[in-house]
Amino acid sequence: MLLKTRGKSYQVDAPIVGKVTKDIYAREDNLILLAESDALHDMTGTFLALLTKKDFKDVAVKLPGAYSVHTLDHLYEGDIVVINSDGVVNTLYRVNSHHNSLLVTERCNSNCLMCSQPPRDRNDIPYLFALYKQLIPLIPKDCLELGITGGEPTLMGNLFYELLELIKFELPDTDVHCLTNGRTFAWYNTAKRLAEIDLKRLVLGIPVYADYYAIHDYIVQAKHAFNQTILGLYNLASFHQRIELRIVLHKQSIPRLTKLAHYIYKNLPFVEHVAFMGLENQGYTPYNIQKLWIDPIEYMDELSEAVDYLSSRDMNVSIYNSQLCLMPKGLWQYARKSISDWKNIYIEECNNCALIDDCGGFFASCKDMHSQHIKALKLESL
Ligand code: SF4
Repeated sequence: MLLKTRGKSYQVDAPIVGKVTKDIYAREDNLILLAESDALHDMTGTFLALLTKKDFKDVAVKLPGAYSVHTLDHLYEGDIVVINSDGVVNTLYRVNSHHNSLLVTERCNSNCLMCSQPPRDRNDIPYLFALYKQLIPLIPKDCLELGITGGEPTLMGNLFYELLELIKFELPDTDVHCLTNGRTFAWYNTAKRLAEIDLKRLVLGIPVYADYYAIHDYIVQAKHAFNQTILGLYNLASFHQRIELRIVLHKQSIPRLTKLAHYIYKNLPFVEHVAFMGLENQGYTPYNIQKLWIDPIEYMDELSEAVDYLSSRDMNVSIYNSQLCLMPKGLWQYARKSISDWKNIYIEECNNCALIDDCGGFFASCKDMHSQHIKALKLESL
């Protein structure tokens, strides 16, 4: 799915954030007109900017914006975009999707072996924060869920809390899901600061990959990460913050998976959700594939044991990014269609499967890197 296009910018001195419309008569604030025809002649609306495939010289009414844009077919009425001064047009919010998220920085204080968005050490926070400050008020108030991701979002410092305050003010009915390694919350005051915002719809998705510090630290490639994350979890819990634990399944995490389940129940029973997650073949993973890859069918015993252990103790468990045909039927009830729509695919074998509508399928990046045991399920075998 396309989230970026490019044209030639005109009078874009600073990024322009606005809502796309094709209605040449529209008169709301913060609209960006998307026009591909000569209808511009009749335009009476008021617009921040124009996006068009047409060449600058062929457009009678000159507005700031991007001209000769390669494609606009991916944009729908109500989508929110930013037009940058270099002519790049990024989609910030897709109105027809439930998988919108704000990537708030590419910086991170961990460096996980399987990171799908490898950290980049550049100060992108001021630029991105300025964008989201304009974006958030434009997001429809009935937006069901909004993600916050990175990098490590808490590296925004005070701006992290400002962002959450803005979301709480503008989108009081939206569920907010923030992916963080939780290390920042090892400092009591950071957890306290978060709790003071009192954003009840916020859930923090925090990874714990092993019950033994050295394995977790190795997976996230950061010394003391385990201790900091666990301390962070306790600080957050002391302020009744909502927490989801996320465990990526691979060669390094599988050997102690059942021990980790025991550890979670005994030490972290306050978390509201535990998600076991299949591997995405993106970012660092292809480079570390020898250290990470294990055919999912080979870890189903460990996964079943971990899931059963937690679930039978009334903990809320899910399995993400995994395929039904690889799982014992007993696990199907925990499987969720979790992969964001813009990177979710099914392979050819799936076309003959009776459960394709219930199965989460694959990450697009796993098209050529998946289990050898994918097999379409037939109705008669269910
Ligand atoms: S064949 Fe495809 S759709 Fe069917 S269960 Fe397997 S992965 Fe899912």
